[in-house]
Amino acid sequence: MDTQLTPGVYRARQFIRKFHSTYREIDAAADAGVIERLRHGWYATPGADPAVVAAVRTGGVASCVTALIRHGLWIAPGYDDEIHVRKSKHGELDGIRHCHMFGPVPATPDAVDAIPVALACAARCMTPEHWIAAVDSALNQGKVTMAELDDVWGITPAWVRNMLDRCDGRAQAGTESIVRVRLRALNFHVQVQPYIADVGRVDLLVGRLIIECDSTQHHGSPTLRRNDYRRDRKALIGRWPVIRVDYHDVLHNWPAILADIRAITGTDLHRRRRQTS
Ligand SMILES: [Zn+2]
Repeated sequence: MDTQLTPGVYRARQFIRKFHSTYREIDAAADAGVIERLRHGWYATPGADPAVVAAVRTGGVASCVTALIRHGLWIAPGYDDEIHVRKSKHGELDGIRHCHMFGPVPATPDAVDAIPVALACAARCMTPEHWIAAVDSALNQGKVTMAELDDVWGITPAWVRNMLDRCDGRAQAGTESIVRVRLRALNFHVQVQPYIADVGRVDLLVGRLIIECDSTQHHGSPTLRRNDYRRDRKALIGRWPVIRVDYHDVLHNWPAILADIRAITGTDLHRRRRQTS
């Protein structure tokens, strides 16, 4: 398990290693109510993550988007309203929704699935563009590599390979991933994180149009905001038009944004001419 994760839920063997205790001491602590016995062989310490506790108590482990959020990946809003559980080999999850991963199903050694396994589950639970953004986030943060994913997954089904081919660990934000995927699907030539002299590294470049994503994250930091202003001036001098979009905009306002991108890059000139003639 990722050592940064502290779900507070452990198998007995992990408990013994982590707290230098014995099986007898664990049983005594559970009987005394100091720790909670969730099901055979699994225990929760006080203050344990409630979602992970619920996943283990129901006979599985926290996986899919529930695990990915805990690993610190960018996950599009709207996925955390239910707990995503992967069933243990002999677990019973009667009547409880659980996620299925593609490919061979590994054991459940940890209360929170590792990133490759959680991503394999999430491939069925997320939209393709949201899943690609999650993979981008894992790659960008250096929490996983393509080689590790290949290693854990083995032979991936064509529909997963198709999504994986569209991932790019250079993406700095989920919104950037989604804009890139959408524009490439429309055959725009999109450069990712190119360096422009005097301006610096930009998120996306389509023709001469710079697309900066999620710039609102700079709010509250005057230094970063002023750096954006400086970059905008330099871009203007270099004749590089800039648009800025955030996730809310992409989610609710995409047709208008796309129309503007087409207008600025001129890719829609032919169609617009025909419409106006
Ligand atoms: Zn799921």
